[in-house]
Amino acid sequence: MKVYIIGASFAGVSCAMHARKLYPEAEIIIIEKNGIVGFLPGGLLLHLQDKFKSLDDAVFTTEEQLNKQHIEVKLSEPLLDCSPDKHEITTTKSTYHYDKLVLANGSEQKSLNIGLENDDEWDPSFKNYDLSHKILPKIQKAQTIAIIGAGQAGMEAASTFVDLKKEVHLIEAMDYPLFKYFDPNFLKPFLTDLQKIPNLQFYFNTTVSEVTENGHYEIFLDEQKITSDYVLTTVNVHPQLAQFAKRFQLHSDNTVQTDNYLETSAQDVFAVGDLIHSPIRIREEGAYLPQINHAIRSGVVAAENLQQTRMKFKGGLRTIGTKIFGWYLASTGLIEEEAFVYSNEIATKSFTQSVSLVDDTPVFCKAVFEKSSKKLLGIQLLSQANCLEKINTAALAIESQVTLTELMQNDYFFQPEFTNLMEPFNRINMESGDQNAF
Ligand SMILES: Cc1cc2nc3c(=O)[nH]c(=O)nc-3n(C[C@H](O)[C@H](O)[C@H](O)COP(=O)(O)OP(=O)(O)OC[C@H]3O[C@@H](n4cnc5c(N)ncnc54)[C@H](O)[C@@H]3O)c2cc1C
Repeated sequence: MKVYIIGASFAGVSCAMHARKLYPEAEIIIIEKNGIVGFLPGGLLLHLQDKFKSLDDAVFTTEEQLNKQHIEVKLSEPLLDCSPDKHEITTTKSTYHYDKLVLANGSEQKSLNIGLENDDEWDPSFKNYDLSHKILPKIQKAQTIAIIGAGQAGMEAASTFVDLKKEVHLIEAMDYPLFKYFDPNFLKPFLTDLQKIPNLQFYFNTTVSEVTENGHYEIFLDEQKITSDYVLTTVNVHPQLAQFAKRFQLHSDNTVQTDNYLETSAQDVFAVGDLIHSPIRIREEGAYLPQINHAIRSGVVAAENLQQTRMKFKGGLRTIGTKIFGWYLASTGLIEEEAFVYSNEIATKSFTQSVSLVDDTPVFCKAVFEKSSKKLLGIQLLSQANCLEKINTAALAIESQVTLTELMQNDYFFQPEFTNLMEPFNRINMESGDQNAF
């Protein structure tokens, strides 16, 4: 069996590695348009934070590691087109015949329609290695940076640049940041804290009408203008509408349509990662889930299904965890603001407790649940202490359709240095207010 995989990032590499284990005799070839495999999308920021010595180190695998597993990698070779009826793909270098094809060519962080699209000197994003390489010296030199989009990528970039003592302007069309993952009131302690940062300026409810470049960048907002040394757009990622993508049935947002087993409208062609629309376990309708864990799992499931349909892809919950401006933020599942997407009535409960018996740093917690059954639907966590790992337990509870009553009896370790008397999820169902459950 000859398996061609397009894209050497999370989805493509995980698919290749799992396929290698399942089909020892298969020929597995990854085609990648960049000159490097496995670059971390936040690699530029991690390098600026001195967590990676160079951008070349900000990778999760290498060509050599893949070759050792007998996975061939063809770098700097973009896919141009494909003919599903002939089982053929055409790259810039050749035409190849496949038995199975996996599209894992992901997404891009498209620049907005802001007037700089034809400026060769300007690179809008740092998602891949080449862009990060080009942007790095510009970011290092810039004293003032404007960021368009206060989602996770924009906030992480702003936090890094503020730490580097740069002046940061963060522009967001919504009225608060991270709106996909948190309710606005829940973020109050965090947002109040951010107001004290002198070199960080937010512009909420604001859209950019145009950006011009003349030595500096001038960013025209609804009613004002900002001048900065560099501008980044950290807007939503989306699949690129490449010529070959048009060979398959697409959703209206250009994601590739797949069945439950990740096979596209063309036989023997699968699509994974940021290319697809996925089921969300607590919603009737699926959604676009551009996340690394989702990409990796979908790659693994596609590998399972290459020869026969044996594993349904279950999608995800949109679980995130991050540290920005000294705060740990985590979220999974439904938030109150999007209650309208859930078919039944929801209820919420918020409380605060100290992180442990020796550390009184507050952990803010908000639970969203189905009112009638008390089934857990979503959790938001916020603290200046590291509480991120708890979100994975919450995600598992939601996936397992656990109720608050059942969560009261979940077993957790107690150790006074690391825990409070009760774990947050044990106590959601208790009528106690803030601080301790009893
Ligand atoms: C700045 C930033 C930070 C992020 N941080 C996080 C995070 O911390 N956690 C998280 O869960 N998510 C994060 N994300 C989202 C994450 O990057 C994506 O969900 C993930 O990369 C998707 O993986 P993928 O393999 O599906 O696609 P991609 O990572 O987009 O990879 C697609 C690959 O295909 C290649 N390719 C594209 N077109 C072609 C072609 N025509 N021919 C050959 N090869 C091609 C590309 O070069 C690329 O290597 C971040 C996104 C951004 C923009």
